[in-house]
Amino acid sequence: MEFAQKLSDTPKSDAERAAILANPGFGDHFTDHTAVVDWNWSEDGGRWSNARIEPYGPISLDPAASVLHYGQEIFEGLKAYRHADGTVWTFRAEANAERFNKSAARLALPELPTEVFIDSLRQLVQTDRAWVPSGDGEALYLRPFMIATEAFLGVRPSREVSYRVIASPAGNYFGGELKPVSIWLSTRYARAGRGGTGEAKCGGNYAASLAAQMEAEANGCKQVLFLDPFNDNAVEELGGMNVFFVFDDGRIVTPELNGNILRGVTRSSVIQLAKDRGLTVEERRITLDEWRRTAENGRLREVFACGTAAVITPIGELKTTEESITTPSLQADSVTMSIREELLGIQTGTAEDTHGWLTRLA
Ligand SMILES: *Cc1c(COP(=O)(O)O)cnc(C)c1O
Repeated sequence: MEFAQKLSDTPKSDAERAAILANPGFGDHFTDHTAVVDWNWSEDGGRWSNARIEPYGPISLDPAASVLHYGQEIFEGLKAYRHADGTVWTFRAEANAERFNKSAARLALPELPTEVFIDSLRQLVQTDRAWVPSGDGEALYLRPFMIATEAFLGVRPSREVSYRVIASPAGNYFGGELKPVSIWLSTRYARAGRGGTGEAKCGGNYAASLAAQMEAEANGCKQVLFLDPFNDNAVEELGGMNVFFVFDDGRIVTPELNGNILRGVTRSSVIQLAKDRGLTVEERRITLDEWRRTAENGRLREVFACGTAAVITPIGELKTTEESITTPSLQADSVTMSIREELLGIQTGTAEDTHGWLTRLA
C-alpha cells in the first residue's frame, strides 16, 4: 500500500525539537507527522484505503462517532531505537501487529494487514527520523491505534474506522534513576474478568484501571496490581505491565496467559532470554498467598514488572491497606538487572540479536 505524503507547513524548528529531545519525558511531546489509513465496511468485508502521512494535529470527528460513546478502540505501543551508526530499528513489530489484530477481533474492529502496520511505522519514522532520540535509555515511542469513526448511536460495530500512528520521544518511564517501585494491591477493583477484554489492548481496560491507579498514588505507589479474586487471588498483572518472580533456586515464575492478562511482547522476550540462559521458566498460577509465604521464608528473591514503556522495573514492595510484602534488595548479579541489560542491549544494537527480533525502519 502506497502512503501519500503531505508534509507539515509548520514543523517544529531544530531548536524547539532539540529542547524537547534534551528532556523528552514520557508521552508529553509528539513528532511533526502522523500516519493514517481509513477503513470502510462493504458487503464483501470492507477495505483499507487512503494511506497517508499527514501533519500531526487535531482530528475532526462527528460528535456521534461511536468511539466517543462505546469505546470501540484498540492500540499498540512499541519503540524505535537509534543505533550507534544512526540507523533506526524497532523490536518485534510483527508480534505487535499480530496482537493488534487479536485486539481488533475482540473489539469487532477490522484486521489490518501486518505489512501495512509495519509500513505505517516505517513511513512515519522515516519522515520524522530527526525525532528519534539517541540518549541512553531513550527511544521514539510509537503508538498505533484504531478508532470507530462512524456517526451512529445504535450499538453495532462501526462501518467506518480510522487507523493512525503517532510518535513521541521517550525517556525513562518512571523518571530519574531506576530504583525499585512500590506497587499497590487493588482489592476493590478489577481491570478484567473472564471472557472480558483483559487480553485485548484497548482503552477500556485502562479506563477501568484509573480509579485503582488513583488509589495507588494516594498510597504512595507508582502502579497498581490486579488479582483474580475468583481464582484464589491469583496474581494477574499491573495496569500496564506484566509481572515476574525470581526464586532462590533460579526458577522464574510469571502468571500464565489465561485470557485476562495482556500478552506482553516484553513478557515473551524475557521468557525467551531466561530460557536461553538455561533458567527454568514457569508460566502458571501464582497466588497472593504464595507471594507472601515465599517472601516470608526467604525463597522469593526478586519481583519485577515489564512492558515496552518501562522495559523492566524492579518491584520493591507490594502494599495493601493491611500489609506490606517486601522484596529483598537487589543483589549485584540479579536476574532482573541482567535480563534488563541484555534486552536493552539487543534493542539498542549493542548486543547480538540472535532471535532476529529487530526490523530496520530508517
Ligand atoms: C501493553 C501492555 C503490557 C505490556 O506489553 P508489552 O508488549 O510488553 O509492551 C502489559 N499489560 C497491559 C495491560 C498492557 O496494556
